[in-house]
Amino acid sequence: MSRIGFIGLGIMGSPMASHLAKAGHEVLAHTLNTDAYPRLEADGGKGAGSIEAAVKGAEIVITMLPNHPQVEEVVLGGDGVFAHAPKDALLIDFSTIRPESSIAIAEAGAAAGFRVLDAPVSGGQGGAEEGVLSIMVGGDEADFIAATTIFEAVGKTFIHVGPHGAGQVVKAANQLVVGGTYALIAEAIVLMEALGVDAGKGLDVLAGGLAGSTILERKRASMVAREFAPGFRIDLHHKDMGIITDAARQADVSLPTAALTASLIAAGRAQGYGSLDHSALLKVIENLNGRGDK
Ligand code: NAD
Repeated sequence: MSRIGFIGLGIMGSPMASHLAKAGHEVLAHTLNTDAYPRLEADGGKGAGSIEAAVKGAEIVITMLPNHPQVEEVVLGGDGVFAHAPKDALLIDFSTIRPESSIAIAEAGAAAGFRVLDAPVSGGQGGAEEGVLSIMVGGDEADFIAATTIFEAVGKTFIHVGPHGAGQVVKAANQLVVGGTYALIAEAIVLMEALGVDAGKGLDVLAGGLAGSTILERKRASMVAREFAPGFRIDLHHKDMGIITDAARQADVSLPTAALTASLIAAGRAQGYGSLDHSALLKVIENLNGRGDK
């Protein structure tokens, strides 16, 4: 069991830190939303007043933060992880950020004597709560193997996909499939309802056939009921679509469905839905069809 410094107890980080504490790791966490501490403390961890306090003496440091500016500030900042964690600590960044930022953080870590893995996750809030996330890991294989007990505590599928940044590339591919799937389910709901068919029953059938997916399994009932509490915020998916379109440009590849999906998610933000769950793409498609506010 390891002494873990955990930074960022949000929708995903809070259940993940609790799973690690319940698995017997010594978890000291720091976050800006201090209302997350009671849950962690009930599960055997502790809140810490600063990054320094959380990472002092840690063998493993975990970050689960919104985007690269927060990860860079927390890890590289003057009062951050690399300034205060013991040398040779292993940093596991579970956040979804640009591949180039993960590579730069790994290089800065190596220069300062730290080992680093990029390990973005998929599975959403439900997957985090149930400890069954899919984890795509970039970095050195020996570090991936050293982190096995951590991945086992929060995930079900974890795969070493390549060198630093490769985890983020796979996560970008994941977010492309997830965003496109939500857009198509939203269109399916609008089509069925416009033709007088019960979309709930329709999606029950789709979920059992070739169109079935984890998204249909977990989200079809809440979409049909128009329940859009996050979950995964449209603002964060907008960030991820930016990562995907930048990566496509760098790779000189054309991804037309990605561009369309990015535009629909941007429309969700423009229409004021940024803090709703990404399943609120349904509202965007309804608005396109003059069928809003159902
Ligand atoms: P969130 O906004 O709920 O949580 C972010 C946390 O970071 C908050 O607790 C905040 O207090 C903390 N934080 C921000 N800046 C900080 C700082 N300087 N010091 C300490 N704490 C700080 O976001 P989330 O939904 O948990 O997502 C986290 C990451 O995981 C994102 O990169 C997101 O894209 C990714 N992700 C989210 C989901 C999901 O379904 N929510 C699924 C997979 C991946």
